[in-house]
Amino acid sequence: MTAKQQVKHLLDFIDNSPSPWHAVASVETAIQKFHFVRLDETAKWQLQAGGRYYVVRDDSSIVLFVVGRKTPAESGFRIVGAHTDSPGFRIRPNGATVSDGLARLGVEIYGGPILVTFTDRDLSLAGRISFLEDGKQLRHKPVRFDQSLLRLPNLAIHMNRGVNEDGLKLHKQNELPLLLAQLTAEQLPKPYFLELLAQASGIDAAQILSWDLAVYDTQKGVFWGANQEFYADSQIDNLASCHAALQALLDDTVLDSAQSTLVCAFFDHEEIGSESHIGAGGSFLADVLQRIHIATATEREDSARALAQSFLISADMAHAYQPNFPAAYDADHRVFVNKGPVIKSNANRRYSSESVSIARFIQWCEEAGVPHQRYTHRSDLPCGSTIGPIASAKLGIRSVDVGCPMWAMHSVRESAGVQDHGYMIKVLRRFFGD
Ligand code: ZN
Repeated sequence: MTAKQQVKHLLDFIDNSPSPWHAVASVETAIQKFHFVRLDETAKWQLQAGGRYYVVRDDSSIVLFVVGRKTPAESGFRIVGAHTDSPGFRIRPNGATVSDGLARLGVEIYGGPILVTFTDRDLSLAGRISFLEDGKQLRHKPVRFDQSLLRLPNLAIHMNRGVNEDGLKLHKQNELPLLLAQLTAEQLPKPYFLELLAQASGIDAAQILSWDLAVYDTQKGVFWGANQEFYADSQIDNLASCHAALQALLDDTVLDSAQSTLVCAFFDHEEIGSESHIGAGGSFLADVLQRIHIATATEREDSARALAQSFLISADMAHAYQPNFPAAYDADHRVFVNKGPVIKSNANRRYSSESVSIARFIQWCEEAGVPHQRYTHRSDLPCGSTIGPIASAKLGIRSVDVGCPMWAMHSVRESAGVQDHGYMIKVLRRFFGD
């Protein structure tokens, strides 16, 4: 595939993944024809060398792995980690309210979105619902509203004269509820919303017990620029990295000749600190690796030997240079779209990269014929972080933080360069095939 075809594939992947629960379902769909076997954490596992497996924890984190021809004790794990969640809004449990005939949904802020980018967008909802089947069986399933359902209309400039000088400031409690419907005096907002949820999910309203609902932007991904060299969509951070890792792994040569045990680990909850039973700070990946050891190791010491020679690439997006804001960047570490994967480093370990892991990644780039760039954040601005330092500390393995450069990270509409996505797939494929 050309880089452009790969990005088209990515845009479809994102548009089919409006929430972390849907992102995991999209990964499952993508791996179907590659004969991955789903493992249940409550069952006993029997693994074969060369076998392809995956584990989902709580619907929104997933670990896929291919057992290598060599045991992990002989050649370690090759892991690419990324995250399935993106910052935005989550609907409050009793969020549906009405005043002056206008129904609204109250929201909590999830992670650190750029709030103003959610104004005047064609928003909708996606997530999962939990319900009772046959009066006793607890079930859960994804739910998605396809049509534009919600909106956060801006205040007209005539009522906010300073908006272009002072910026748009939204009060997080009072000014974020999303407009949902115009109701008659007889209609009550909570049953009204529950009925909408019932229609969208096909589950009877009386059976619905609870839900997790994320707000998403219904506008589909596009290419843009005079040469269509850029693309825009929601959730590029970090579904682009999940997609690149997946495309690198789902290659017949990589899958058939894996010597090391290859792992893709996509976690929810990165945007809120990763501390959960399914996040990178939780036990999920460590548990899966431990169970691979149990199935393949002959001695207790083998698991320590395996981890000591493993490598984690933490793949997450990087901040591309935006020429309108030159002062936002360290002048010597400006990175540009379409100029290759970015190796991110930070003296205070907000990124996991260090001399040795950086050198290895540079080697893989050179072997794959892929350019690379180096980034550090300005010292007078707080630096973001990734799953890299967290997962690497948890597992005790070496790690590097890399990612494709992008603009407007945490906007509801982000953008990036077409070539970089192809470059990232290439270098990750080299890593898996090494
Ligand atoms: Zn990210």
